[in-house]
Amino acid sequence: MAGERQADCLFCKIVAGEVPATVVRETDTTVAFRDINPQAPTHILVIPKVHYPDVAALAAAEPQMAADILRESAEVAAEDKTVGSGYRIVFNTGSGAGQTVFHAHAHVLGGRGLNWPPG
Ligand code: 5GP
Repeated sequence: MAGERQADCLFCKIVAGEVPATVVRETDTTVAFRDINPQAPTHILVIPKVHYPDVAALAAAEPQMAADILRESAEVAAEDKTVGSGYRIVFNTGSGAGQTVFHAHAHVLGGRGLNWPPG
């Protein structure tokens, strides 16, 4: 059923505490933790506790949860001391866009200059 935990999902295991992560913020419905391979001084992942393969599936099934992810992304950016004058929220969606973990997540990136267009 949509939203249910997937046994082979890395981020479901982080939600369950079965894989360690540096959690910076948690709500009833979301977890924010530091990326294991940071691409900027600030690189935090914000995920729903429920499982959807990407943000498109999440937004279609649970739009309020998608809004929760955006709100929490803004909160972690506001709380992070190294963000600086701006930050970027990225949802890689599909393997062609660089998605490697198929549990919906926002990347919150900041603390350095961020080029446009992205690579
Ligand atoms: P994607 O490429 O799917 O948009 O982003 C997945 C992110 O998860 C990558 O930035 C990658 O570094 C991060 N990641 C992969 N495995 C782990 C892990 O075990 N712990 C943490 N904290 N991040 C991970």
